[in-house]
Amino acid sequence: MSDVIVVGGGPSGLAAAHRLTRGGLSVRVLEASGRTGGKMSTTRQSGFVIDDGAFFIPSTYRTLRALAAEIGMADDLVPGRFVLSTVRDGVVHDLDGEHMVRSIVGTGLLSSRAKAELAKLAPELVRSRLATYDRMPKAGRYDTQSLNDWARAHLSAELQEYLTDTTMRGIFATSGDSASRVDFLAIITLFAGANLLGFRNGMASFPERLSQGFECVVHADVHEVEEGPDGVTVSWTDADGRDHIDSAAACVVATPGEMTAKIVIAMNDWRRDYLTRVRNGHVIVANIALGARPARETTYIQVPRSSHPFLTGILFDHHKAPDRAPADKGLLTVALLDSWSEDHRDDHDDDISATVLAAVDDVIPGLVAQTEFTRVTRWRQEFNTVGCYRDLGRFRESCQSDTRVQLAGDSQCMQNIEYATMTGLRAADRLLATGLFGGRRSG
Ligand SMILES: Cc1cc2nc3c(=O)[nH]c(=O)nc-3n(C[C@H](O)[C@H](O)[C@H](O)COP(=O)(O)OP(=O)(O)OC[C@H]3O[C@@H](n4cnc5c(N)ncnc54)[C@H](O)[C@@H]3O)c2cc1C
Repeated sequence: MSDVIVVGGGPSGLAAAHRLTRGGLSVRVLEASGRTGGKMSTTRQSGFVIDDGAFFIPSTYRTLRALAAEIGMADDLVPGRFVLSTVRDGVVHDLDGEHMVRSIVGTGLLSSRAKAELAKLAPELVRSRLATYDRMPKAGRYDTQSLNDWARAHLSAELQEYLTDTTMRGIFATSGDSASRVDFLAIITLFAGANLLGFRNGMASFPERLSQGFECVVHADVHEVEEGPDGVTVSWTDADGRDHIDSAAACVVATPGEMTAKIVIAMNDWRRDYLTRVRNGHVIVANIALGARPARETTYIQVPRSSHPFLTGILFDHHKAPDRAPADKGLLTVALLDSWSEDHRDDHDDDISATVLAAVDDVIPGLVAQTEFTRVTRWRQEFNTVGCYRDLGRFRESCQSDTRVQLAGDSQCMQNIEYATMTGLRAADRLLATGLFGGRRSG
């Protein structure tokens, strides 16, 4: 019997398992799918290293970088080129991500009037200092309306279109109509002045290495976590349909909020309601392997709504890290808007590929003329609805009195691999501080 069972082998669960193992505990991770890593996923095909889930690591991800260093992967995080572009009326405007202010001043993307109006964003820059992992509950006071409602009241139509809504589409594959204004503040904090990094050998190399430090059971679909006075029992079903009941002193549940609310038996209604208010949406990703490397310098082209209804951005993976495509070849990744993804999630891969290739060709003619193959993946992605940040402080406060069952995962902050990692580490630290494990202490 292990000391702790971690449910969910994504970045949050693996970070928790790692911290607990370092704290001297024996840990068993139960993961429903056939591999660990959650939404950090890499596939290799014909010499291409294809990140088909999460793709960006800004240099501001300090916790993730520290954890990578701890497991000997500091040198595997390689800097990529960071040219952030936006398409407007068929023209691609490049901004140097490392010198954003200078680039914005000189860009043809915005009219002089819109550039002058950027000064109106100065108070948002100040407020964005609250939108860090630890201070996010304080940023919750600005979580009263959607990003687009806020932008309509404060910014011109031009900035709404080419700045706020486009950023939300490009980073989150969702519209500013459903995202909170606080999501935008958090994006400013994470991306302003950042460089872009990538794991050599693909995003999945990080969770793969992390998983080596403890026992991981895949195809373990957990359906119940029950807390008793002396420990927890975790009920799960394996790939052959056999039922298991494991016992441990404690458990960390690191699954999407909707799932956590379903499987953790003892949870008050308020917490259950909070976890299910974090919307578990759909995002379809298409990777496009190109037989010839495009001449463009850009790393990421954001696609505003006026340029395409559901194409949100085009990532040039071969600029993110040197190993993503064979020499002279190119690799693109596109994420499709959540609402479109939901409507088309049951479409055949071939139909989605054909639609995506036509969409990219429409936005950047000729870019996908030399396509070697495409790959389509479907993801569930959590999105905070307006009001979640406002209640985040109360939710986190409620976690402080948890003992044997600790919660982690994307529903406890803005959704990204840095904050997911932090939720896992914090859950592990809370557990180690409970006194359940005597002398073994937090890291
Ligand atoms: C297409 C896409 C692109 C993204 N791009 C980026 C990016 O560029 N940068 C960034 O920082 N973030 C990005 N993200 C977000 C990032 O991937 C997530 O924030 C992060 O993976 C969340 O980690 P997690 O461990 O909380 O959840 P997950 O990664 O979802 O892991 C949860 C794990 O729990 C398992 N599980 C669920 N239910 C059960 C159960 N009942 N029993 C056992 N196991 C279960 C799941 O199979 C999964 O492996 C992206 C997400 C998507 C979908």
